[in-house]
Amino acid sequence: TPTLAVVGRPNVGKSTLVNRLIGRREAVVQDVPGVTRDRISYDALWNGRRFTLVDTGGWEPDATGLQGAVAAQAELAMRTADAVMLVVDASVGATATDEAVARVLRRSDRPVILVATKVDDDRLTSDTAALWRLGLGEPHPVSGLHGRGSGDLLDAVLDLLPETPRDDVGAGSGGPRRVALVGKPNVGKSSLLNKVSGELRSVVHDVAGTTVDPVDSLVELDGEIWRFVDTAGLRKRVRTASGTEFYASLRTQSAIEAAEVAVVLIDASEPIAEQDQRVIGMVEEAGRALVLVFNKWDLVDEDRRLAMKRELERDLVRVRWAERVNVSALTGRSVAKIAPALRTALASWDQRIPTGRLNGWLADVIAATPPPVRGGKQPKVLFATQAQTRPPTFVLFTTGFLEAGYRRFLERRLREEFGFTGSPVRLSVRVRE
Ligand code: GDP
Repeated sequence: TPTLAVVGRPNVGKSTLVNRLIGRREAVVQDVPGVTRDRISYDALWNGRRFTLVDTGGWEPDATGLQGAVAAQAELAMRTADAVMLVVDASVGATATDEAVARVLRRSDRPVILVATKVDDDRLTSDTAALWRLGLGEPHPVSGLHGRGSGDLLDAVLDLLPETPRDDVGAGSGGPRRVALVGKPNVGKSSLLNKVSGELRSVVHDVAGTTVDPVDSLVELDGEIWRFVDTAGLRKRVRTASGTEFYASLRTQSAIEAAEVAVVLIDASEPIAEQDQRVIGMVEEAGRALVLVFNKWDLVDEDRRLAMKRELERDLVRVRWAERVNVSALTGRSVAKIAPALRTALASWDQRIPTGRLNGWLADVIAATPPPVRGGKQPKVLFATQAQTRPPTFVLFTTGFLEAGYRRFLERRLREEFGFTGSPVRLSVRVRE
């Protein structure tokens, strides 16, 4: 879905506006100056169209000073979103900070919509007009308190966002790609998330007691923004007491389902556990792309490395198509290799093989190795088509049943020919009478 990023100084009424736009009443928001909340994503719906609204929190001077923080955040918003909404307090007028961010936004190729908040009486309409000088076009007046103007505003927002099919629910075209960071307790999920979040130039902070639970984290890896889904528990370091394992596994499941690609974190310093395999199984079953990240590599010696090799062959053959990355969240070793592995996996997950190429390849394979005869009959494979992507799903039309062994053989050859590194592949057979 297309993404709209909302930016604005603390206290301009941005959060009130966001709550109004997403139709949430209960969340009373404190806009404490100097307090930065995390970026929070919401799924929004207006006139039958869906979009993702990213609330980028207030600006706070950091190590680079206020201007630096503003520029960093505006840049992040532009790179993340299909359109940007700048919120300015009409009762205060454009401040130097507002002007600084407007300068950044004017250089962007993304559409920008300017919103004037706190337009609660007629006197303020002239203050609204004064905001033309930000050079971002017509200021849209709203009163977050009374809800005045928010319907018109949403209409204007939808005009700016790229058109998407009305039934395109969460397919992830446009917004950052969604990653689930999963694995058994203590493998280092929080440590890894903290390590990679640190690269966000410390614009992102955790603040206790914020009214809206930040569920996802936006993280910059290798020059690209990724949405790590359902990481609230990780950042808050919720300890799972014994007896809550069922709950934890439900959580893992829902994170995987919300994501496009899963990073399954495995503790390389210990034998591969049944629980690791269970989590990998969940990813396969959900049909998500997969990257295996072996953490705590700083603890791995030569003996452990050899043992690991045996375990991989014994326990993880099923997912030998997945890329493996060895990292240390502690030292940061090879953490930079995660993003390229994610890209490879997602490219495979999205890949579509043209029907002509697919059938040309299939004819060669079948001529060389025909399906085994069953009940005195030779099943013929008539035609293949890729019915779906995400994950790639193939349908074979045949004149008879194909044995499981032969289907596995075809999948192996399919991967040899077309790759699909990092993605599960599905193959189904339809027998034509
Ligand atoms: P989580 O339960 O998966 O979120 O795991 P944590 O991030 O809480 O990590 C569990 C423990 O492993 C902590 O004591 C971390 O300091 C430690 N840890 C995490 N990553 C590494 C690593 O790469 N190397 C080493 N030696 N320890 C690590």
